Amino acid sequence: MGGTPELKLYNTLTREKSVFKPIDAENVRMYVCGPTVYDYAHIGNARPVIVFDVLFRLLRHVYGESHVTYARNITDVDDKINARALRDYPGLPLNAAIRAVTEKTERQFLDDALALGSLEPTVQPRATDNIAEMIAIIERLIARGHAYQASGEVLFDTKSMADYGQLSKRNLDEQQAGARVAVDAHKKSPGDFVLWKLSDENEPGWESPWGRGRPGWHIECSAMSGRYLGDVFDIHGGGLDLIFPHHENEIAQSRCAHGTDVMANVWMHNGFLQVEGRKMSKSEGNFVTIYELLHTETFAGRQWPGEVLRLAMLMTHYREPIDFSVKRLEEAERLLAKWPAAEPGDAKPDETVLNALADDLNTVAAVQALHALAQSGDPAVFAASATLLGVLPKKTEIDEAVAAEIDARVKARLELLKAKNFAEADKIRDTLAAEGIQLKDGKNAETGERVTTWEVKK
Ligand code: AMP
Ligand code: ZN
Repeated sequence: MGGTPELKLYNTLTREKSVFKPIDAENVRMYVCGPTVYDYAHIGNARPVIVFDVLFRLLRHVYGESHVTYARNITDVDDKINARALRDYPGLPLNAAIRAVTEKTERQFLDDALALGSLEPTVQPRATDNIAEMIAIIERLIARGHAYQASGEVLFDTKSMADYGQLSKRNLDEQQAGARVAVDAHKKSPGDFVLWKLSDENEPGWESPWGRGRPGWHIECSAMSGRYLGDVFDIHGGGLDLIFPHHENEIAQSRCAHGTDVMANVWMHNGFLQVEGRKMSKSEGNFVTIYELLHTETFAGRQWPGEVLRLAMLMTHYREPIDFSVKRLEEAERLLAKWPAAEPGDAKPDETVLNALADDLNTVAAVQALHALAQSGDPAVFAASATLLGVLPKKTEIDEAVAAEIDARVKARLELLKAKNFAEADKIRDTLAAEGIQLKDGKNAETGERVTTWEVKK
């Protein structure tokens, strides 16, 4: 496509960065593992949300807005959810209690994702709406000799797949030799994993050929990606903790059920996030939710706007570990304060920003280029480029009539400057400054003419 650089992505499957070629440029398909909805999402969970949103925006730019399908699931069946439902809603019947937990948490997650400047994915399927699809895949796996029933479970037979372990490069025999992994007696091999397990009365369950039960975690993603993106699709993403066992097992299920060589062509994983140099955990007391950062004063005694959190995240390459710190947030905030709240109109994004993103989402270089543009570039080009990263500063809401009046005074000042009446021109600038309106002088790149933008001082 004209003017667009080749897109290169690092692929965990090959451990190489290579040129991205979609299966169908008319419908580029990406799947990202979404949250398990039992509790507020933490700032680590925000990383894949933001990183893959940037990729979604980039793909839409390259292939066209209506030619990209992005699916991010909601895992709303999980034993952690059951436990939370029993704890928080002891008076309700289990199903109602579970629904109360998942609906509330899901809504909160979507609010958080939007506040972080992310676009809504094309589809956001829920696991519980895809149980029939999961059962169908498990039936195929049994029929093809890749799964077996034992002790109230249906298990995937890892030994039945010749090249199991390609993504994580784990070799089953290596794992088992000298392994201290306690072999569950009912499993053929210790690496075999649950596709379906029977539920007792106090657990949520669905009717299936193997009795009333519930799916294992991995099968959910095989079912939802297959339904919305097909047996083989372009990109699959998530945090690197998901490489093993989750993604390895998704691959095993999907490939063995569909008889394909790959599940997705490119596997992408974001690095982990720490807080102030330490692993985030409840016991360390440094567990920070997106909600707290946005709406409360628990982190460094103040609230943090979504765009600051987002920019702070993009100031590290997605594959690197990231240290989330107050210093980093303040740095992002200082940058944003210097950026204009312009409109992109039909301007095209800047090439340096685009090239940086096309090089395996180098958001660090893209942010630097964006900052240079903010200083001396065309505000519309800046805005188009900032939109690609989802970090366009918002224009502060201001009454239209007031805005028109400010525009008129800015224009009058430009006329005075043209007439070299600097004293009067400065008076207008100073009066506006006293009213909290900051002027920014620049030049139109093509005509060389002076242009002035204004913004409400933060
Ligand atoms: P979970 O709800 O734990 O399955 O996580 C949802 C997504 O967040 C997955 O893609 C995880 O890999 C990712 N994730 C969880 N913790 C972190 C972290 N500390 N840093 C970066 N990504 C994370
Ligand atoms: Zn998944």
